[in-house]
Amino acid sequence: RAKARGRNTWEVHDPSEADPAVNRMRLLGELRHGIEDGQLRVHYQPRMNIATNIAIGVEALVRWEHPTRGLLQPGDFIDLAEESGLIRGLGAWVLDEAVQQGAQWNRASSGQAPVGMAVNLSPRQLVDPQLTGIVQAALARHSFDPSLLILEITETALMENPEMALKVLTALKALGVGLAIDDFGTGYASLTYLKHFPIDELKIDRSFVSGLGAGNGDYAIVSSCIQLAHAVGIRAVAEGVETDYQRSTLLTMGCDLAQGFHYSRPLAPDLLADWITARPPMSPEIAVELIAPE
Ligand code: C2E
Ligand code: MG
Ligand code: MG
Ligand code: MG
Repeated sequence: RAKARGRNTWEVHDPSEADPAVNRMRLLGELRHGIEDGQLRVHYQPRMNIATNIAIGVEALVRWEHPTRGLLQPGDFIDLAEESGLIRGLGAWVLDEAVQQGAQWNRASSGQAPVGMAVNLSPRQLVDPQLTGIVQAALARHSFDPSLLILEITETALMENPEMALKVLTALKALGVGLAIDDFGTGYASLTYLKHFPIDELKIDRSFVSGLGAGNGDYAIVSSCIQLAHAVGIRAVAEGVETDYQRSTLLTMGCDLAQGFHYSRPLAPDLLADWITARPPMSPEIAVELIAPE
């Protein structure tokens, strides 16, 4: 098209026509700038006790408010951040932001059980020698009770280097934080690892939860995951609960916690304030549940 206008015209590229590698480079530059420029946001999704229907905490999920492309989801940029190493700065920022938000909610609460905060860690963060220090610093900076923080690590990240992972998880655990295996069921973790890792929570991958109700083998898978978690003395969490049928099935199966659109989408912190303040006052049962897994 540009050519048709004559030899002396500059070629104008439609970005969608550009080489994917060029697009990636551009997005990477924008992400680097966006992180420095404060374009990242954290949204929060409630973590529900299935039996009591009470939100016991939230999971922090990063968003990027891109100046021209709109609100981008982690799927649009997390891999890029991971490959480029930007995830270290991004992850440290999310952690600090989430802990700060959790501390703020808990300061504002009147006699309610404190809100727990779950934060995702990427494989690259897991092998960062500074990770423990970063976590400790965030907790100290915002005077956040370590037992209210849960760090989520995907099963695949753990399996990439189990020996290294064990060392890191042990060091994190020593800070007093909780640990969760995220996307469980997708990475073929063996029972041996489950037993040896100092894990508090197993999050059953959404792909299995969404299969509940479709009359396939996912009933058996989800139910076995819950039993497995309980057999090693940890909580079972279902992710991606979208229907009331899934909720009641999980309740019958004895699953402890659930997250999903059935309860709430991840929301900006001001929109979630109602969820936080509507929680009933602290009861001894809730206190126990917050401190001790199953
Ligand atoms: P995840 O940790 O397994 O988070 C759950 C994802 O499922 C979130 O997607 C959430 O919005 C979505 N989800 C929750 N409930 C439902 C539901 O009922 N139905 C459906 N269809 N989806 C549901 P999101 O926010 O796009 O995040 C995707 C992944 O990106 C996360 O998966 C996590 O692995 C990663 N991620 C998000 N934030 C961070 C972060 O701050 N750091 C790192 N390293 N990774 C992050
Ligand atoms: Mg997660
Ligand atoms: Mg997950
Ligand atoms: Mg997932």
